[in-house]
Amino acid sequence: MATHARHAATNGAEDRENSGIRFPVIWTRTLGELTLSYVPDAGVDMIPTRVYPASVEEDWHPHRPQMTEAGHLPMGCGALLVERGGTRLLIDTGHGRISGEDLEHFQHAFGHVQDLPESLVALGVDPAELDMVAITHLHGDHTGWARPDAVEDPRSLFTKARWMVGKGELESVAPGDGPILAGQDERAVVVTDGTEIADGVRAWSLPGHTPGHTAWILDTGDGREVVAFGDAMHSPVQVQHPDWEVVLDTDRNEAEQSRRRLVERLARDGVYGFGVHFADQQLGTVDSSGLWRPWNDETDAS
Ligand SMILES: [Zn+2]
Repeated sequence: MATHARHAATNGAEDRENSGIRFPVIWTRTLGELTLSYVPDAGVDMIPTRVYPASVEEDWHPHRPQMTEAGHLPMGCGALLVERGGTRLLIDTGHGRISGEDLEHFQHAFGHVQDLPESLVALGVDPAELDMVAITHLHGDHTGWARPDAVEDPRSLFTKARWMVGKGELESVAPGDGPILAGQDERAVVVTDGTEIADGVRAWSLPGHTPGHTAWILDTGDGREVVAFGDAMHSPVQVQHPDWEVVLDTDRNEAEQSRRRLVERLARDGVYGFGVHFADQQLGTVDSSGLWRPWNDETDAS
């Protein structure tokens, strides 16, 4: 989702308690050699039939477990911290400063979990020390803290990181809307499908939501993988409904094809997915009945 409002944050914790919103908080999981942590930033409550225009009210009855008490579809906005040995990289950079004053027609409410900079501190990460940030695509809820105007320092929070971006993505930004990333001309590195950007981290081109939309495949070192798939899917319901386009998909048919490839991959043994917008079910897999099965404490994958 792309949103552009940026004002001082409201009191997110209070909003969250009063709204029934299911925004994810910091979690850390280990799979093989990988340690993954969710770096929360913000969250959005969606109006389901508006975010998925191909759906009607009745389609949502079986999906109540994914929704808030008020019938909205919650989505987290944040980043994924990937650690292996001594190396660290971040996938996406959250939403940036938002207020909820400028809601788009498919959104019901905004809230803050805690700002991404605070989340990084809590995880012991100094963003100035990161060498690399992998970006799934250039929408504002994935590039928020990487923007040249995100913080006072025009280099952004990530003062030296290279931005790893899928081929075709930089060109997809309308003239006048960019540059999206701080120091974009010098710091952006364009990668093609299959490129290994760090030990065990490969680009997987999944276009459609945007032209250069890229998933990042993380090798666990023990024969498994985690696919951080960005906005190829926005909620677990799309595992069952890969034909449901999201209101912001650039190319509907290409996005659907990419989703079908993704669901097929996630159904393989030892393949896990990370859906940044999947509310409190971000890490999981596709089970034998074709449903998203979140990985929680009861279904320990390690
Ligand atoms: Zn998004």
